[in-house]
Amino acid sequence: MIPYGRQDITEQDIDSVISTLKSDLITQGNAVPAFEKKISDYVGVSNAIAVNSATSALHLSCMALGIGEGDVVWTSPITFVASANCALYCGANIDFVDIDNDTYNLCPLRLEEKLKVAKLNNTLPKAIIPVHLTGQSCDMEKIHMLSKEYGFYIIEDGSHAIGAEYNKTKVGSCAYSDVCVFSFHPVKIITTGEGGMVLTNNDNIAAKIERLRSHGITRDENLMNNISHGPWYYEQHDLGLNYRITDIQAALGISQMDRLDEYVEQRNILADRYDNLLKDLPIQIPYQDPLNYSSRHLYVIRLKLDEISLTHKEVFESLRKNNIGVQLHYIPVPIQPYYSNMGFSMKDFPNSNAYYQQAISIPMFPTMTTDQQNTVISIITKILSR
Ligand SMILES: *Cc1c(COP(=O)(O)O)cnc(C)c1O
Repeated sequence: MIPYGRQDITEQDIDSVISTLKSDLITQGNAVPAFEKKISDYVGVSNAIAVNSATSALHLSCMALGIGEGDVVWTSPITFVASANCALYCGANIDFVDIDNDTYNLCPLRLEEKLKVAKLNNTLPKAIIPVHLTGQSCDMEKIHMLSKEYGFYIIEDGSHAIGAEYNKTKVGSCAYSDVCVFSFHPVKIITTGEGGMVLTNNDNIAAKIERLRSHGITRDENLMNNISHGPWYYEQHDLGLNYRITDIQAALGISQMDRLDEYVEQRNILADRYDNLLKDLPIQIPYQDPLNYSSRHLYVIRLKLDEISLTHKEVFESLRKNNIGVQLHYIPVPIQPYYSNMGFSMKDFPNSNAYYQQAISIPMFPTMTTDQQNTVISIITKILSR
């Protein structure tokens, strides 16, 4: 089976992990801050806080922004469930804004319409979580402008988008947001096994997230309420969690970062080749904003179902039967039983609904060989010509 995504682990990665395993501290040592610095320097942001997953990063971001009961958070229906769950962890409500038909990202026009209505009804969101689906940035300039007009926070879900650029800045620089998060799950652009990171230019938010990641505890004497009882002393100020990443994982991340640009370049080469060799088939190849640079985490094709005799499910099954490890990113969150029980209906998200009827993610990973890519292309071509 040619998988839809796959990590790349080199000898350098293995050596980096082994040397941390042989060091004194395998967690709460130097590798975590070194990993954070490597990423904050790369994206150009003042604070980076590493955690054990992007899900944790999203949860802590919501907590640090004070999202809680009575608040509403909006995100895209076409995302992994974690982008919505994070608001619910905090006791807030969730709602969705339909996607744009070209980029499959949260649509800024729908967002503006929905904000106008919410303002009249006094139900404006406390935060919006735009998701950079497939590694292509959302229209952050427009979303940022709306945040100023309507007063909401922006948490970018950049799980797919480390290495991508928007308006000549790296995704993660938070030029148009309060916070951005990355994921280092093995199918993502770089990996630490499990892992995530929060980026922010706001020092207060950063300090809060750093505390919340480790039980809400501080060891900084300048921040303490009481005079220190002695060298053992620490204070808990918030109800935090243990969302720390280990130094073993951070060592892997530091080593992976050395190949980030190569990975993204290679993904772009593969994507351009797919574009050229698939464009005459009865599918819609992914739209790419010519002004920005995507990390090409996923390559999503959309079937033109009125031009082929097979159904979406039949094409998908036929690809799997031919050992092409296709996937579907994503089942719309509002139709997950946990969410549909809250009363969500896809009638309110027609673009997302149409996307779900047609989308297939085909294999895309930086170590994919030309042979493997040719196999994928020839099998898709054969199936769609039936
Ligand atoms: C992978 C992913 C997450 C969750 O990341 P984890 O590191 O696995 O917790 C969240 N949002 C999106 C869009 C993702 O793709």
